[in-house]
Amino acid sequence: MRDLLPPLFLERMAALLGGPESAEYRAFAASYDRPAVTGLRANTLKASAAELAARLPFALAAVPWSAEGFIVQDADAASAGRPGKHPYHAAGLYYLQEPSALAPVELLDPRPGERVLDLAAAPGGKATHIAARLQGEGLLVANEIHGRRAWDLAENLERCGVRNAAVTNETPERLAERFGAWFDAVLVDAPCSGEGMLRKSAAARQEWTPELAAGCAVRQANILAAAARLVRPGGRLVYATCTFAPEEDERAVARFLAARPDFDLPEPPRRPGFAPGRPDWLPADERDARLAHAVRLWPHHVAGEGHFAARLMRRADAEQEAGPRPARSERLPKAVEAAYRAFVAETLAGPPADAVMLAGAYLYAVLPGLPDLAGLRFLHPGWWLGTARKERFEPSHALALGLRAQQARRVADFPADGPETARYLRGETLASTGEDGWTLVTVDGYPLGWGKRVAGRLKSHYPRGLRPVK
Ligand code: SAM
Repeated sequence: MRDLLPPLFLERMAALLGGPESAEYRAFAASYDRPAVTGLRANTLKASAAELAARLPFALAAVPWSAEGFIVQDADAASAGRPGKHPYHAAGLYYLQEPSALAPVELLDPRPGERVLDLAAAPGGKATHIAARLQGEGLLVANEIHGRRAWDLAENLERCGVRNAAVTNETPERLAERFGAWFDAVLVDAPCSGEGMLRKSAAARQEWTPELAAGCAVRQANILAAAARLVRPGGRLVYATCTFAPEEDERAVARFLAARPDFDLPEPPRRPGFAPGRPDWLPADERDARLAHAVRLWPHHVAGEGHFAARLMRRADAEQEAGPRPARSERLPKAVEAAYRAFVAETLAGPPADAVMLAGAYLYAVLPGLPDLAGLRFLHPGWWLGTARKERFEPSHALALGLRAQQARRVADFPADGPETARYLRGETLASTGEDGWTLVTVDGYPLGWGKRVAGRLKSHYPRGLRPVK
């Protein structure tokens, strides 16, 4: 694998790590001769890490820096892509995530009740990690600037059963204009030159050029400047990349600290595998000693790829700007309200949300405290419950995945390794006894999606776009 790396990249790394003959550089280069690991993170909105590990048919090893993280040990299972095809994945019990990619949210440390913004969130590894930490309390704004990627993000939040997130498709600047310094915690998982992913990604190897880092650094500076405007006094901002390039890492943070004296970079809680940042890699006039408080993950020191993260704290006495406009509540049209209530009474043990709102034909749970999004580009202003269709209400996949099995009146449960589960996921109709109507289909008790039962036959409403390709 080492032979596939751009020679100029290796030369640069040798220069940073003490020369081509240094033990550090040799260990770094040798790490590319080992295969990349497959990682997954338990989605604690649905199952604890211990519960998941006990249930999954793969051997798992713990990730030292994250209580929710695992490395799939069984190389065959991992290479055959099985963790991504298991029904528990479809049920959102875990997210396939590179172990080093767990570090930024460990540093952000979101707590239940907080307002959190993930500014560059697609496809959603870190956004779903944040949501799991919030445990349904507080709110997450998950933003992605690219429209198509924003839909991938929405799909992953849906699969993970996240009920307190809005998905926006905006520029960082427009979010800063609208929200101001409103968030307790902001994550910038910046677009970068991806040097930390060269082992895993052929695309990253092809795209790499010696000039790429400098171009990325300009974009990162702009994103960081907007991100800073979104952090409340006393709040925190985590800046992360998956690259080694000092221009995009320590230097981006050094320049940020110089421009924003209301932010500091104190020592974060260190975890096993968290190596310090390298102020010594910067020119003398930019060498801020606090940069050692950033975190680097190295592929020759940990079982994972390369990552960088810095936890910046906004001073509590910083000036507080005016907050965003609160959202106005509007009454539902009578017919929509009646159809929704009828669905709830017939299908669920109780209303899934305290208050609901309509955006076009889509019905959402009101996300308490979320300001007015009018004028911004957004996909979902909260948990999508379903669609109003003339006289009836059609529940969404997001509703099914965000429920607990006990919340549904009719449940059809199948075992993960049984044929019915695979058939349901393929969209086939199954024999099923019980009352007619919308039925929550579960795998070993975890919601997988909706089915509609009529006269002993359960029609799969598992979304077509998610079904396995034949
Ligand atoms: N946080 C994501 C996760 O954990 O799954 C990965 C994010 S990826 C490293 C960086 C994201 O930044 C990409 O989705 C990309 O579309 C987005 N991006 C690109 N240019 C941007 C810009 N100018 N402002 C904000 N985001 C941008």
